[in-house]
Amino acid sequence: MSLAPSDPAPRGPARILDGRAIAQTVRAEVAAAVRDLAQPPGLAVVLVGEDPASQIYVKSKARACHEVGIATFDHRLPATTSAAGLRELLEQLSRDPRVHGVLVQLPLPAGLDATAILTALDPRKDVDGLLAENVGRLWLGQPRFVPCTPLGVMRLIRESGVATAGAQAIVVGRSNLVGRPLGGLLLSADATVTLCHSRTRELQEHVRAADILVAAVGRPHAIPGAWVKPGAVVIDVGINRLPGGSIVGDIEFEPARERAAAITPVPGGVGPLTIAMLLANTVLAARLLARESAPAAGTKAAQP
Ligand code: NAP
Repeated sequence: MSLAPSDPAPRGPARILDGRAIAQTVRAEVAAAVRDLAQPPGLAVVLVGEDPASQIYVKSKARACHEVGIATFDHRLPATTSAAGLRELLEQLSRDPRVHGVLVQLPLPAGLDATAILTALDPRKDVDGLLAENVGRLWLGQPRFVPCTPLGVMRLIRESGVATAGAQAIVVGRSNLVGRPLGGLLLSADATVTLCHSRTRELQEHVRAADILVAAVGRPHAIPGAWVKPGAVVIDVGINRLPGGSIVGDIEFEPARERAAAITPVPGGVGPLTIAMLLANTVLAARLLARESAPAAGTKAAQP
């Protein structure tokens, strides 16, 4: 089904974009790719401190790796770890031939500057796509490692038949992890992109114009459903835990669903794809590193 930006407003509630089902497809692709590799891919997961949400994320990432045959190397460090200590670990993991990808779970404890620390990592193992080299490649339209959540959003858009060319795409949020890279990817997909943030004036006017609306704000129901343009495609990246324990997104789901053509649920939308894309990036890293270490065509391998 194609959802062109000019499609008339649909009647009735929006189609639900099922992130879990698409993530399952990605995982199956990754498992097949892993079977084709001579050496199992390895992902090092670095967790600094005791943040409960981060502990849960790290655990589900490790479980997902094992399900597809990716080896994991756990590094749990106390919140008192110094920047120098963390950089030393990243240098060591950069040299370790069993490790093809390195994930530093963010946010780091206060006082540790992730951008400065991550420069110790080999960009060829930067499966989160946060180093300058990978960010630059994305904006040049030559992506290598793209941050997992925006990569997942683009896969969701593609698999759902959403037309991006010429669409007005509004991304609310400009973080290095989500909003900015997503802006670059949507631009590469020929959307007309606006990035909104906490200093944006008249946010409502921008949201009302969106054929494709993505929210990555981190505030429950920051965007009222009544702002959604009829017939829009609505992608909610937000994961917010309410005092009662339930999880909601950044967009008011029910009223948005009444207006949109398609919408992601929270949970079950973007979240499962983020983890699936981490697996895909790890396999990509393993492939690229294997290609680099293989003898070039036409040259003889060194004799023992
Ligand atoms: P972040 O680093 O805190 O960035 C939030 C962005 O929202 C900032 O750019 C901020 O603007 C903007 N913002 C804050 N209040 C706003 C307002 N009232 N109006 C407009 N913009 C506003 O967060 P993040 O890491 O990008 O994550 C965003 C959300 O996505 C969080 O709920 C997070 O849990 C979730 N998330 C989900 C996944 C997933 O797998 N589904 C993955 C990553 C993150 P300024 O730049 O001006 O401060």
